Amino acid sequence: MSDWDKIAIKNIQSAPQPPERFIRLSGPCERDSIVNGDGLRAVVWTQGCPNHCKGCQNPETWDFCGGFLIEIKDICEKLKEFPGQTGLTFCGGEPFVQPAACKQIADYVRKELGWNVWSFSGFKYEQIKAAGGEAWEFLKSLDALIDGPFILSQKDLSLRFRGSKNQRLLHLEYGTGEILSIE
Ligand code: SF4
Repeated sequence: MSDWDKIAIKNIQSAPQPPERFIRLSGPCERDSIVNGDGLRAVVWTQGCPNHCKGCQNPETWDFCGGFLIEIKDICEKLKEFPGQTGLTFCGGEPFVQPAACKQIADYVRKELGWNVWSFSGFKYEQIKAAGGEAWEFLKSLDALIDGPFILSQKDLSLRFRGSKNQRLLHLEYGTGEILSIE
């Protein structure tokens, strides 16, 4: 295991968590997005990221004390008002530092609204799996993960839903987290 893997796993396991029933977001939920996954998608923008990628487009989302706290039930109520969405995508910030809160929202939209669920992460799939715990439980609730940090020297805007060549679009088996295919 590399030093980078060890740091990433520690960052996943030791991130400060929002109070119970709350999530920390960087902005309002979005609807009708076509750039954050297949179909027409709602987007939840999480706050807090330890990865600090050079060239990140959202550095204001890094601060773990930034953004605002909101009750998870209020997010679910908001998402319920969005008609005609294919699914929900978690963007950041880093969704995997608030995995329990994200999973509650993911479970709600899947069960109550019939949506599929994607997430971005600056961590790699293997790092999330090795971290285990609530991060792995959140991953198992997804249909797709776009993983890996943004690497400026590998920037490629022609990629589907990704910013740099090192990032992968992983299609996952819901419930097990197993990788079905990789783009
Ligand atoms: S993981 Fe995403 S939000 Fe975090 S620094 Fe990298 S590009 Fe920015």
